[in-house]
Amino acid sequence: MSRRPIIAGNWKMHKTIAEALALVQEIKEAAAGCDGVEVAVCPPFTALAPVVEALRGTDIAVGAQNVHWEDKGAYTGEISPVMLRDAGCRYVIIGHSERRQYFGETDENVNRKVKAVFAQGLTPIMCVGETLAEREAGVTEKVVRTQTEAGLAALTGEQVAGMVIAYEPVWAIGTGKTASDEDAQQVISFIRGIVAGLYGDSAAGRVRIQYGGSVKPENAAGLMAKPDIDGALVGGASLEAASFTGIIRAV
Ligand code: PGA
Repeated sequence: MSRRPIIAGNWKMHKTIAEALALVQEIKEAAAGCDGVEVAVCPPFTALAPVVEALRGTDIAVGAQNVHWEDKGAYTGEISPVMLRDAGCRYVIIGHSERRQYFGETDENVNRKVKAVFAQGLTPIMCVGETLAEREAGVTEKVVRTQTEAGLAALTGEQVAGMVIAYEPVWAIGTGKTASDEDAQQVISFIRGIVAGLYGDSAAGRVRIQYGGSVKPENAAGLMAKPDIDGALVGGASLEAASFTGIIRAV
């Protein structure tokens, strides 16, 4: 089963509108001709619409970093899937460990958001991953299974096949520590097995599963060469065009 890898930049809480536009201009030029890989950038909410406008006519997709599950209502400070679609987003990162850790994101909310995003024709990038304490306690698979099963609850096989899952071990995010190619492959293949058990081999063969956590141009090729790793969710290295496009080229 051939899956097109997807390299997505998670800018987190970085970049003003002007900085965002300068960065995508550089990415646009440097990524031209990289047809074998899908590229997406996920700016902060304030830069979404301007970045969508700047990337019009290119193959580079735009994603948001979070969403609420309701379409509208009295939810001060929140942004709905309808608004993200309106702004021109294709992807939405859901359940990032920083949201789980600092903002009380639960597996149940992740599932609500995943379903709400699909209802608006957007594609979720659903993040799962264990903390260092969980890895050291030997419960990585248990944690990843719980997050994956809960996040995918009540979806259809077609939806799961079309979405993106990002395996991001929390201890590797922003720390400079990367999972070894083998460890990342092992957990991602385990996740694919969970999808196969829930939704069958066809969905498992089609769903794209990224690795995330200190991905850089220097380690991207080794990770991406693994059979089950379908791209990367990139934080720090996505904030500069040279390192982000270095990763794209490594794929
Ligand atoms: P990092 O972040 O590449 O800076 O480790 C990855 C992420 O949080 O998605």
